[in-house]
Amino acid sequence: MPQTRTEKGGVYAEVASTLPVGKTFHYAIPPQFQSLCEVGKRVLVPLGKRTITGYILEFPSQLPPHITGKDIKEILDVLDETPLFEKGMLQFFRWVADYYLAPLGQVIKTALPPGINWESYYHCSLTQQGKEATAEGSPQRTPALKVLQAIDPQHGIPLKQLLKIYPNRSLYFSLEKRGLITLEAKIQPGRTKAKKITVVEAISPPPSPEPLTPKEGEIYAFLTEQKKVSLGDLRKRFKQASSVLKRLMKKGMVTTTEEEVFREPMQETVEREEAPFSLNPEQQAALEQINKALKEHTFSPFLLYGITGSGKTEVYLRAIQETISLGKQALILVPEISLTPQLVGRFQRKLGAEMALLHSGLSPGERYDQWRKVQRGLVTVVIGARSAVFAPFRDLGLIIVDEEHETSYKQEDGVRYNARDLALVRAQREKAVVILGSATPSLESFYNAQREKYHLLHLPQRVGGGVLPHVDIVDLKREKHTLFSPPLQEAVAKNLHEGGQSLLFLNRRGFSRTALCTECGRAFTCRHCSVTLTFHARRKALLCHYCGYQVPAFPVCPHCGGGTIQLHGLGTEKVEEEIRRLFPQARVARMDSDVMTQRGAHGKLLQALEKREIDILVGTQMIVKGHDFPRITLVGIITADVALNLPELRSSERCFQLISQAAGRAGRGIHPGRVIIQTFVPEHYAIQRAKEHDFVGFYQQEIAIREALRYPPVTRMVNMRVSSRNPRDAERGIQRLAKKGDRVLKTLQGEVEILGPSPAPLYQIKGSYRWQLLLKGETVVSLQHLSRALMHEGKGLKGVRVEVDVDPLSML
Ligand code: ADP
Ligand code: ZN
Repeated sequence: MPQTRTEKGGVYAEVASTLPVGKTFHYAIPPQFQSLCEVGKRVLVPLGKRTITGYILEFPSQLPPHITGKDIKEILDVLDETPLFEKGMLQFFRWVADYYLAPLGQVIKTALPPGINWESYYHCSLTQQGKEATAEGSPQRTPALKVLQAIDPQHGIPLKQLLKIYPNRSLYFSLEKRGLITLEAKIQPGRTKAKKITVVEAISPPPSPEPLTPKEGEIYAFLTEQKKVSLGDLRKRFKQASSVLKRLMKKGMVTTTEEEVFREPMQETVEREEAPFSLNPEQQAALEQINKALKEHTFSPFLLYGITGSGKTEVYLRAIQETISLGKQALILVPEISLTPQLVGRFQRKLGAEMALLHSGLSPGERYDQWRKVQRGLVTVVIGARSAVFAPFRDLGLIIVDEEHETSYKQEDGVRYNARDLALVRAQREKAVVILGSATPSLESFYNAQREKYHLLHLPQRVGGGVLPHVDIVDLKREKHTLFSPPLQEAVAKNLHEGGQSLLFLNRRGFSRTALCTECGRAFTCRHCSVTLTFHARRKALLCHYCGYQVPAFPVCPHCGGGTIQLHGLGTEKVEEEIRRLFPQARVARMDSDVMTQRGAHGKLLQALEKREIDILVGTQMIVKGHDFPRITLVGIITADVALNLPELRSSERCFQLISQAAGRAGRGIHPGRVIIQTFVPEHYAIQRAKEHDFVGFYQQEIAIREALRYPPVTRMVNMRVSSRNPRDAERGIQRLAKKGDRVLKTLQGEVEILGPSPAPLYQIKGSYRWQLLLKGETVVSLQHLSRALMHEGKGLKGVRVEVDVDPLSML
């Protein structure tokens, strides 16, 4: 509740809006809302012509000098009964906004469950004059006329729909000026709400008993016995329950109340029996250090570097148990795709604690309820993907970031945060312990461990004496069949014969990479993006993997109007087809984001794999993450070069990680495993080190290159991108930023360097032309100073979008 009053007796609130604007706004709180307003609640406020949602940040005792008490507007409504975040979290949000140069309101929106915000929109109606203009219907269909004719004369239409017909907003404002249409700002409540049910209770004994009919008596007796029954259940049990209930209420014999309930996501889990075991000495040593830190209640970051199958998850589990016994809460972050029934089942079984799940596979309602359970302190353990790093814990003791090297921890649009990095920031604020775990740590984390910013914990062996699989490299330059070289074919056949399961991994979905015209030799490219289209056999279509643009397969060549189309390259779908042809007797399945669109599909497939109903599984990187199946004895990497061929500074690192992770799926049980890598560049150090399971060797070679080129983690980077539908605007925009950058650089004394401007490697995406400037610096402080100046400059540019990416991972 606002306490301070200003000199004039007014009470003000500082509010962050969910719109992408950098600054915050001030409003007066009218008397009827004063007791309702609290930091962390949402309010409806006027902004220009619109009504928008905002978050209350503070109750300043004074208005900033540029606002006078006279022209300040009032809060229209308070939307929440209880605050959505506490002051401590707000400080964290402010830190995030500051570091990633993002508007505070957007950070808060990102941190809260989706779908709860009220959305404002414009509704467009025809005026009398407008109706007449459409009726006349001039033969020339100008954009204005097209738009006017699309408006329902009676009810109007949301502006959003008109924008699909004609995207330029200025048209609508000019139509309004000419008196043809009216634009009205409206607001729509958030779709996600708490679910409430009606609960019926008998008043027993009743204050003034009245005679009851047999039916009334029956229901009353039932209610007295059951204590509390939901109205829904009552209706299911008794005919005419509602009318009988009404009479009972009149007689003062029952009451009804509204109660909130939590929607529980259907959680499939994979069951597995396991004999109890004790930790091996390395696990024990790691756990002891972690437990010591947990007891000390100080910020302690650990890097748990353990090869695949070395028992990292077991260490997590026991550290969580310790956290729970200290009365604190634990957060486990996992990459979205490894949030599998298998993993969740294992945690549920071993912890037996109240758990919540937070990830994008849940419906918004389920996610909101899981989130509220955390907020109310009803759960002790949360497993979640990236955004769970913002979960509203009360007393966080431990954060685990599993597979910390995964790029999916980085959000690639909106607020471009990295959940792994924020886990450390949050833990530092809340004096918690952090465990970053990986078999192939990111260069960043291992570098930090080398410099003793993190404590390194090492698990060098597989548990139970298991050995890492033997790796063979097939040089595709010497093979005729580059999809399935004879050595790979033989290995699959042999494994099938011996009853083992095989995994075939290819980091590319679809059937075939490119479609070329045999007449003119040109490729089919997306109309909106600088990428070639991929052929998908089941859909009989060519598809853009960036924007979803789709054309039916094999029309005549759009370039020369004739010719036949040939397919080049390959994808998972093609691999599956080839496998079925080569091994008709094998049970084959495929796992990639094309087939895994249905809810629960992923879990079913893993269950089938566990039950050994699948002999050969073909898939993209989805299949190589974190799963643990003891009967997989062969892993084939169809081509290791996909990652290497990307123009990115981390391409070798990605390649090494992918091969190591894929190889890590083989031979996890008592049967030894085997890995076959097909590649055109067998001598590449990323492939050689992965073959030898030599992470440290790889790290040393790679860090030497980064040192020489002054690339992260040795330095820090920021990517500034300017994009526009008009290629000339985009180029002009980036030139302006570059000039400004040169001026700022002179004041920074060589701590920062600017690379570019250059067109982004994917120059055109979704119809936008993109340019970038890479800023590289020794310290974050001067980099941020420069980025802020450039963002400011960018505000003055017309017709372009300026985006900033701090610590970028992908610079395509
Ligand atoms: P990682 O997370 O490093 O890949 P896991 O923790 O999943 O490894 O361990 C692999 C398998 O070994 C799991 O089935 C796990 O239950 C089992 N396991 C872990 N630690 C031990 C141990 N000390 N003794 C026996 N089995 C273990
Ligand atoms: Zn596209």
